[in-house]
Amino acid sequence: MQLATEIKEADQQMSRSIHAALIDSLFQDPGSLFAGALCAAIAAFMTALKTGNAWLWLCVALLIVVGAARVLDMRQYKRLKSTITPAETARWEMRYQVGAIVYAAVLGLWCAIAILGSHDAVAHMICTSVTLCYFAAGGGRTYGRPWIFHVQMLLACGALTVALLLYGSPYYAGMAVLNVLFFFALKHISTRLQDIFVRALLAREREAALAGQFDTALNNMPHGLCMFRADGRLAVMNHRFCEMMQLSDDLVRGGATASDIVQACVHTGSISAASGNVILAEIENSQAHGIITADPDILRGRSLSWAFQPMSGGGAVVLVEDITERRNAEARISHLARYDELTGLPNRVSFRDEIERLLKTPHDPGKVSALLFVDLDQFKQVNDTLGHPCGDQLLCAVADRLRAMLRPEDFVARFGGDEFVVFQQNIASAEDAAALARRIVDHLSERYKIDNHLVEIGASVGIALTAAEVSADTLLKNADMALYRAKADGRGTYCFFHDEMAQTVEARRILELDLRKALVNEEFELFFQPLVNLKSGKITVCEALLRWNHPVRGTVSPVDIVPVAEDMGLIVDLGRWILRKACMECMKWPENVSVAVNFSPQQFHQRDVLNEIRYALEVSGLPAERLEIEITESSLLRNTQLTHDVLSQLRNIGVRISLDDFGTGYSSLSYLHNFPLQKVKIDRSFLEGIDADRPLTLLRGVARLSADLGMQVVVEGIETNEQLELISADGSVTEAQGYLFSRPVPSVRIRQLLNASYGRPAAEAELHVVPSRSIA
Ligand code: C2E
Ligand code: MG
Ligand code: MG
Repeated sequence: MQLATEIKEADQQMSRSIHAALIDSLFQDPGSLFAGALCAAIAAFMTALKTGNAWLWLCVALLIVVGAARVLDMRQYKRLKSTITPAETARWEMRYQVGAIVYAAVLGLWCAIAILGSHDAVAHMICTSVTLCYFAAGGGRTYGRPWIFHVQMLLACGALTVALLLYGSPYYAGMAVLNVLFFFALKHISTRLQDIFVRALLAREREAALAGQFDTALNNMPHGLCMFRADGRLAVMNHRFCEMMQLSDDLVRGGATASDIVQACVHTGSISAASGNVILAEIENSQAHGIITADPDILRGRSLSWAFQPMSGGGAVVLVEDITERRNAEARISHLARYDELTGLPNRVSFRDEIERLLKTPHDPGKVSALLFVDLDQFKQVNDTLGHPCGDQLLCAVADRLRAMLRPEDFVARFGGDEFVVFQQNIASAEDAAALARRIVDHLSERYKIDNHLVEIGASVGIALTAAEVSADTLLKNADMALYRAKADGRGTYCFFHDEMAQTVEARRILELDLRKALVNEEFELFFQPLVNLKSGKITVCEALLRWNHPVRGTVSPVDIVPVAEDMGLIVDLGRWILRKACMECMKWPENVSVAVNFSPQQFHQRDVLNEIRYALEVSGLPAERLEIEITESSLLRNTQLTHDVLSQLRNIGVRISLDDFGTGYSSLSYLHNFPLQKVKIDRSFLEGIDADRPLTLLRGVARLSADLGMQVVVEGIETNEQLELISADGSVTEAQGYLFSRPVPSVRIRQLLNASYGRPAAEAELHVVPSRSIA
């Protein structure tokens, strides 16, 4: 039922190709048409001869003419068939239709004349049997267009039936009835035949469409595909496969075997003979599997991925993918992941893996290996002053020098930044490692020519020797510790790792933990040390100095705390606490006394240093004029413009800046000139051996110059009256600080001192700058 509707629908919207096929079926068999027409003409001839009826001769003539015309028409169709367009098939259908109907009408006429025009039973038998035979045969020919056949039957058999009925014999009438039944039977058969034919056409069309889609999919897929039947012969091969393997199409057409195909692939150089054997074995093997082959031609360097999939009824599908690009990309990624892009040296990951591997392989018991951690000195300055491109070139030059210094079995990696690591294998003694370290320090310190700049840097090396059971990580950690020591020893040198270093590091780790806790638990305290104005003899400023009262360590010096806090990144939080606390404390002092707060370089260069300072002033209510920020020269070293801006803005809001510890670092007088500083604190080291003439000359020179530049001058570390007298002599020093006046004291004590200083009548309250006693 469903099929019938399907066919009907299909017939309604019958595709042109099906319509054309149906019409084509009408013209299929000119031979049988010819035979039929010949038989009918002979039969009519015999009836005319037998009866002598002149009208029958006319029928003979008509049958011959129409029959011949139809046969000729059919032959013409056959001839033109290949050129007939689907649109023209309708015309051909019409031609067939006209011929068939006219011919049927002539047959009908012949029957009517033969039966009604004579009483010759032979003639009757001939025309009846030939007409019925003609249609029995015609049903098989005209199934493509059954309605034409039905019209023919109506015309010919209809006329025959009517003639039989009119003849007036009951037998003839019986025959007429049988004719009607015969008509319906033939009608049914021809309709069924058309059903079957249309169904077959539809199936063929669907199949063709499917095959077309399959073909498109096959030939447009990125993979090469081959399908082998159970007998090992090729069933399908797509263009991509031919293209990838450079095979000719003949191979596909010729029903080649799997072995032929594989051999052809080997022959074109797409796979090696060995790979070919593996592929053949995989095709025969009935398990899904995959392999990767490489082109025998290294230059082409193609990687092919082959997948074999057995089919349920035997045979196999082979899929080939060109994975060269993917593999190259993977190789590139893995290279990037394991090598330093700039220098081409292995990176930390690959170096670590390599050492781990080497440490596990058995080695000569009399030999050791050494890991040398190399750090460049002053590299940062080169980067900052000459720019990163020069810095990069310098790193490449360093990498080249390191490579050149090593034996083939040693290797070097870049760990990032200016850190390099060398692994020296199988050396006789530590002396060999020391010799290499010396060479590294010397060679790397030789001048470099980078973009017309002559660059000099240094190198420090930390060495760790391998011991039994040592891991790569421990070795690296030990060498790093040794490097730390080498740098602490003044750089440009090397240092071997010793166990005590590990203890130092452990101690430092505990210190870090304690420091974190201390900040949370507020274990810190601020002490204050006065700065005394030499003219008035009064305390003008008190410097806040950090103290850490640790239950076990006792009072820890800021000299120990600050660098660790800087390394840990804790200095910003700690500094914030110090600044706010100092400002709040200052609010408790007489109005003309300011507070000085030390800022470490890292703290000074934090992004929102200005906001931090403004906020501290705001929450404490301290006027900006009563705050002094003490920075050291190292704070002025980097980001010069930015530093300059921050200092200018601080000056604009009224905060004073003093340059602390002047004389310990670069002592660059240009800083005094270039930056908006209000005060210089000359370090107490200037007072060492002050009796000798030269240092005093230096101190006085710096003091005078600073005073000339409009700055206040403080001398730190005054411990004796003699020192005080000497520095006060020429009047350029404005303030003095030191144990002579007071040691740093807790906040309660400084308040007492200040009250004592300012609470009494001015004359008495003045601090006696006159030698003899300290105020603390
Ligand atoms: P500084 O800023 O130069 O502070 C002066 C240091 O010299 C203080 O040491 C002080 O006790 C010491 N001193 C003062 N007068 C004399 C003297 O007559 N003789 C001798 N021998 N020493 C004297 P302290 O408190 O140990 O501080 C050391 C350094 O730690 C400071 O040097 C400063 O650079 C740093 N520091 C202290 N507190 C802080 C802080 O709150 N933040 C930061 N960033 N650094 C701080
Ligand atoms: Mg200071
Ligand atoms: Mg100082």
